[in-house]
Formats: sequence, C-alpha cells, structure tokens
Amino acid sequence: MNSSEYELIVIGGGPNGLACAIEAQKRGIKTMVLEKGTIAESIRRYPYQMTFFSTADNIAIGNVPFTINTPKATREEALNYYRKVVEFYQLPIKLYCKVESVKKEDQLFMILTGAGESFKADNVVISTGYFDFPRRLNIPGEDLPHVKHYYDEPYAYVHQQVVIIGGGNSAVEAALSLYRHGADVSLMVRKEGMKKTAKYWLIPDLLNRIKEGKIRAYYHYETIRIEEGCLYARDLVNQQEVGIPAEFVFVLTGYLPDVSFMQQAGIRIKPGTLEPGFNQETFETDVPGLYVAGTVTAGIHTEKVFIENGRLHGRFIVDHILKRKAGKLQESFSLQDRPGRP
Ligand SMILES: Cc1cc2nc3c(=O)[nH]c(=O)nc-3n(C[C@H](O)[C@H](O)[C@H](O)COP(=O)(O)OP(=O)(O)OC[C@H]3O[C@@H](n4cnc5c(N)ncnc54)[C@H](O)[C@@H]3O)c2cc1C
Repeated sequence: MNSSEYELIVIGGGPNGLACAIEAQKRGIKTMVLEKGTIAESIRRYPYQMTFFSTADNIAIGNVPFTINTPKATREEALNYYRKVVEFYQLPIKLYCKVESVKKEDQLFMILTGAGESFKADNVVISTGYFDFPRRLNIPGEDLPHVKHYYDEPYAYVHQQVVIIGGGNSAVEAALSLYRHGADVSLMVRKEGMKKTAKYWLIPDLLNRIKEGKIRAYYHYETIRIEEGCLYARDLVNQQEVGIPAEFVFVLTGYLPDVSFMQQAGIRIKPGTLEPGFNQETFETDVPGLYVAGTVTAGIHTEKVFIENGRLHGRFIVDHILKRKAGKLQESFSLQDRPGRP
C-alpha cells in the first residue's frame, strides 16, 4: 500500500474546503482535496429549486468572480461555478473518495479512505460541513419509507397529504414549494412561530398562505409518532394528542456535523454545542497540523458560519502552516522533535 505525500490534504470539497485548498495552492503548498461525493456535494443535495440568500459575490471563492444575471445564484449556477473554479486552478481533487480515518504517526498524518487508499500529509484540514447527519426526532416511525430528512423537489407529492416537521428555513422553503406544486401541506412547529433565521422574504408569503388556510400550521405541537398514513402530535399547551393524515412526512429539523469523524482524528468536541476545539486565530485543533474550516467549526450553530465567512478560514490556516514551515512559530514543541525535518 503506497502512500502519496502532500503538505496539505483538505477533507471536504465544499465551498469552504475548496477556498482553503486554493489559498494553499496559490501560496505554494502542495495540496490535495478529498471529497466523498462530487464538487460541492452538499449543495448538490440541496432542494433543486433553491436560491442562495447571499448574493453571488458573497459566495465567490479564490478571487474568481461569480458573474450571473441576477444578484443571487441558484443551486445549479453555484454547482457550475464551483466546478469551474476547481478547473480554473487545476486544483487536485479526488471525488467519490470518502475519508474514514485521520491518524498522526511520526509527525505525518496517515489518511485512510473507504476504498482502502492511503495518503500522507504534513497538515490536514477537516472541512466536512454539517449536511450529512439530519437532526433526528428519535420517535417511532421516523425510519418508515414515507418519512424523509432531505427535501429535493415537489413533483412526487402532487395531491398528496404532506406534513413538514420543522420551523426553520428548510421547512419554510419546502412548504411553499410543495403547496405551489399541488400538495396538501401541513406544518408542525414546536414553537409559537417560524425561526428568525428563515429567509425573511419568504415568511410573509408563508404567513399569508397560512392565514388563507392554504397551508395548515400547528404551532406548539410536538410530533410523538409516525405511522403509515398518519402522524400523531401532542399540543404542548393542552397536552391533547391529534392524528393528522400524512402520506408523506418531511423531518426538516436541521443537520449536524460528523462529530465521530472529528473525534477519531483526535479533535476535542464541546458537549452540547458539538463545536470542535480549535484556536480561533489559526483554526488549528489540539493536534498540531490538524485544522478545521468552514461550517464544521460552528457545531450545532450552523447559522453562525456559512460560505460568506467560512471561505476566509483558509487564509488564517495557510498563514499558520507557512509560519511553521519557516520556523517562525513559538511552538510548545521544538522542531527538533520532528525527525527528518530540515
Ligand atoms: C438550503 C440552504 C441554503 C443555504 N444558503 C446559503 C447562502 O445563501 N449563503 C451562504 O453563505 N450559505 C448558505 N447555506 C449554507 C452553506 O451552503 C453551507 O454553509 C456551505 O455549504 C458550507 O460549506 P462547507 O464547505 O463548510 O461545507 P459543505 O458544503 O457541507 O462541504 C463539506 C463537504 O465535505 C464532504 N465530506 C463530508 N465528510 C467527508 C469525508 N469523510 N470524506 C470526504 N469528504 C467528506 C461533503 O460531501 C461535502 O461536500 C445554505 C445551506 C442550505 C442547506
């Protein structure tokens, strides 16, 4: 099993991982990106008709202009743009290459993939986002075939009774999209209203549809179980239990970072917030040479880090890698400890 060596391996080919890899390559660091799906895989899995809430220039990376006719990009435009940026920089990227483990051995990181490939690197950046693990309700029936944790498009749900569980942006967008394409939509929300983080321009639209009775909203309701054809919820005010007809159910209650992947690499995870432990200036974790970047740095607070700010993380990481390389860092451990290094 031969291992190819890099100065930096970035795990995760989303916008923030790509921005970091481009920054490194531009500053002379031999870099490779490993991505378990396609380029910007998370965005590929977003709702097909999604439009970004940021303007295109605010999600551009690598100083490559994101020029489109409208201020905000669609999912397709973003996917094409990020592919073009990778091609423009001829960025080394291995697609459909899922990293299973990252271990530091003799001052080098050994990276193993699900396909049994191995790579060695001086430095590693984990930029694996938060879209792979839905925030589960852990209730009976959540794994039935008619229950989904990701929304793609409305056409399979025409004239179907669909219940959406959630109060955030994904629930708002799915409710309006399904309603506008002929589904019979009910919204199940634990709180008294939709989350403040939902796209502000969609809320009036949704509230008017609810006022008109075109979309039913159940506020202060908690879903307790899901059965074939029906969803059961409890009114959190009077504890009454109701059954709502449901041919399909979407559990859109948010997503979580891959915590176990970070822990196996030696990263400390803060209980509760699931934030990785890292130096806020350098993004380096407790493991020297191991960094985090992008939305994965925010743990459960996915509203705090997105492309607009996550794309800048790479600059600080590369600064730190180059300072260490030039021996300009006051390290707790001296360079002498790193056998075979100049
Ligand atoms: C519906 C929706 C709308 C949004 N709109 C906006 C917006 O308008 N503006 C904005 O700034 N942000 C927006 N966001 C958030 C933004 O898309 C994410 O913040 C962005 O995708 C984060 O980029 P990232 O590179 O940090 O993570 P991701 O894009 O999630 O990339 C992580 C990558 O890592 C890969 N990966 C994971 N595990 C492994 C592994 N073990 N091995 C190899 N690869 C792995 C994944 O396949 C993925 O491609 C939106 C999010 C959603 C869900």
